[in-house]
Amino acid sequence: MRILTKKIHRAYPELDQFDDKTCKRFITRAKQRHGAWKANAFLVFVLVTTFILWIPLAILLGFLERKLALILGYGDALRIPIMLMLYTGIGWFPSICFLLSRDRLLHLAIRTQLQHALCRNCGYSLLGLTLTEHHNQQAVQCPECGQTTTLKELDLTQADIDPTLLSGEPRS
Ligand SMILES: [Zn+2]
Repeated sequence: MRILTKKIHRAYPELDQFDDKTCKRFITRAKQRHGAWKANAFLVFVLVTTFILWIPLAILLGFLERKLALILGYGDALRIPIMLMLYTGIGWFPSICFLLSRDRLLHLAIRTQLQHALCRNCGYSLLGLTLTEHHNQQAVQCPECGQTTTLKELDLTQADIDPTLLSGEPRS
């Protein structure tokens, strides 16, 4: 979870060979390639839905809390923080759902981008390898099985194999 670990890319050994700045550019690229607007639309949906959902949920929890207070007979010392949690939930509940969803989407984009850079023959990661020429096309040779695959076949650009070539300020 990114709330706990800021460096999401360090969860992927394939990215260990690159510095943080390059990894962040790689993530920005991954998000762009794998439906950034769809992910943003989904996050807005999560925020709005969880915001609306909290109202009936808080009413229900408030009702259950009253019952529980009667059964267990605890006093205001415990009721005040519980009620405070319920009232402030309209803020923290959508926020937590938003952050968790954003995290899942980021991991999905990174995994998809990494999968694109796998050798089609043996599944070895081709990320960071030196590019070669193959029938006048840019290609990459798998060090594991020796298979040469062109970037066109992989549907990748030079910067997808060598993220140090990615330019621009990382946004994530
Ligand atoms: Zn291979």
